[in-house]
Amino acid sequence: MKDLRHMLNDIDMEVHLTRHLIGKNSLSDRVMAAMKKVLRHEFLPADLRYCAYDNGPAPIGSGQTISQPYIVALMSDLLNTKPSDIILEIGTGSGYQAAILCQLVQQVYSVEIIEDLATMAQKRLIKLGYNNVKVRNDDGYFGWPEHAPYDGVIVTAATPHIPQPLIDQLQTGARLVIPVGLPYSYQELMVVEKKANSEIETRKVLGVGFVPLTGGHDKEIPYKDHLKPRI
Ligand code: SAH
Repeated sequence: MKDLRHMLNDIDMEVHLTRHLIGKNSLSDRVMAAMKKVLRHEFLPADLRYCAYDNGPAPIGSGQTISQPYIVALMSDLLNTKPSDIILEIGTGSGYQAAILCQLVQQVYSVEIIEDLATMAQKRLIKLGYNNVKVRNDDGYFGWPEHAPYDGVIVTAATPHIPQPLIDQLQTGARLVIPVGLPYSYQELMVVEKKANSEIETRKVLGVGFVPLTGGHDKEIPYKDHLKPRI
């Protein structure tokens, strides 16, 4: 059975193997320290705790998954956070990614569309002593406008296009980290940066496999032209 130490080694190894895609040979010390501090087994159902420190995703109920540790670490790194940041997460799931962000920033707001998961995650995070995260049960496609603008937005479910409300809620100079692509198909992890003149710059990082972002927004135009990645 793998422990936290194995998980951290596996993340380092996968970062090294993907260095040509992610543009670096190691993740920031701050992110790795957060990965070391949060105990992943606390976020898994009791019968799956034996695989909590495997570098893979795992089911958390309601057909959803906790993301692979390497991906959690990579996305946290790509957000480029500072301790004073206010971050929005879409797709709370188990609350694990939110707990990592709690170590890195001042305040985390997280939106989860499945009521059971939202309730469980909020309870779990309170029980574990995280008092800088708030979970809301809603469709995260529309963000959480009341606390905007955010110093970073992270989406942990895949969308066929980049939701405009999330861009609108980004602070100038801030980043949105999001898997873009079709459900249960190939998706690209993308970093979207809002520039000073409100222009959007996008960068593809690597191929990923996330559960889909659900909700009532499917009628939106797929992939707005000005949001197409620059290759
Ligand atoms: N970040 C999570 C893993 C996310 S799995 C963790 O650390 O455990 C993706 C999550 O996104 C699922 O819980 C799913 O219910 C949620 N989700 C899907 N569509 C959503 C939407 N429109 N708004 C908010 N959450 C959504």
